Amino acid sequence: MPELPEVETVRRGLEPAMVGARFTRVTQRRPDLRFPFPERFSERLEGQEVKALGRRAKYLLADLSSGEVLVMHLGMSGRFLVTKDGATRMPGEFHHEHGGLGAHDHVVFGLSNGTTVTYNDARRFGFMDLVPRQEIETSKHFAGMGIEPLGNELSGETIARLFAGKRTPLKAALLDQRLIAGLGNIYVCEALFRTGLHPEAPAGSLVTKKGEPTDKARQLADVIRDVLSEAVEAGGSTLRDHARVDGSLGYFQHSFRVYDRESEPCVTPGCKGTVTRLVQSGRSTFYCPECQKRS
Ligand SMILES: [Zn+2]
Repeated sequence: MPELPEVETVRRGLEPAMVGARFTRVTQRRPDLRFPFPERFSERLEGQEVKALGRRAKYLLADLSSGEVLVMHLGMSGRFLVTKDGATRMPGEFHHEHGGLGAHDHVVFGLSNGTTVTYNDARRFGFMDLVPRQEIETSKHFAGMGIEPLGNELSGETIARLFAGKRTPLKAALLDQRLIAGLGNIYVCEALFRTGLHPEAPAGSLVTKKGEPTDKARQLADVIRDVLSEAVEAGGSTLRDHARVDGSLGYFQHSFRVYDRESEPCVTPGCKGTVTRLVQSGRSTFYCPECQKRS
C-alpha cells in the first residue's frame, strides 16, 4: 500500500505534467473503482485547467479552474503512468512511451500539453471524486482528519496538545488518523526508534504536568518530518530510475533501521540490542529494547 512519502513522490512526479494544462479528453473505462465515479465525471473535467496539485495525507488534490477539486486516492495498488511523445525533448523526466491500454488502465487523462496521464489500479481500492473547493475540509474525505505530518503544523507543542492526558500507547496515538493523518506503520516504527521512545509508553508521557512538550516530544516532531522527508527524497531518486523501466511513478524500496528487521542486531553504534517485534492493535511493531527503554 502506498504510504504518505510514496504519495508525495507521485505528486511531485505528476505536478509538472498536469499543472497549467487543461484536460482535453478524459476517458473513464469503468463505472467505479472502490466507489462509483462522480456523476458526469469526464464532462466536469474536460476543458478545465489544473491550477495546482496538492496533497493532504494520502490524497492527491487537483484544483481545477471550475472551482472543483479532483480528489484522487491510490488505494492499495493505484499508480499513474505519464506518457508524452517526443520524450527526448525533456531528458531525465519521467516521460515514457506507454504501449497501449492495459487491462487495469481505468482512467486516461489527455492534457492540452500533449501529455497523457493514465491511472492504473489492478486491485481497484483507489478512488476519485470531485468536490467543490469551499467544501473540501468538511467533505467526507477530510472532515475530522488530523494534522499533516509533513507540514509546519507538526511541532512539540502540537504533540503536547494532541497527546495531553492520553494513556494510549504512543504507537497507537501516532497511527490515529484523527490526530495525525497519513503517518503509516513503517514510519511510526522508524520515528520511535530514532527518538528512543518505547512504542508502548503512554502518549501522555510526552507532555509535562503544565501541558508543555517534553524534549522528547520536540525531538519526535523533528524526527517524524526527517523520516518522511528522507523517504520522499529516496522516492524521488528511484522515480527517475523507474521511469526508464516502465514509466510508472511512486514505488520504491527504502531501507529501514528497525522496520521488518526482527532478530537482527540494532544498527545504533555500540548498542548490543536485538530488534524485537511485538503486535499492537493487530499490527507489527519493531523496536530495540535497549535504545527504546520504558522509562
Ligand atoms: Zn539499540
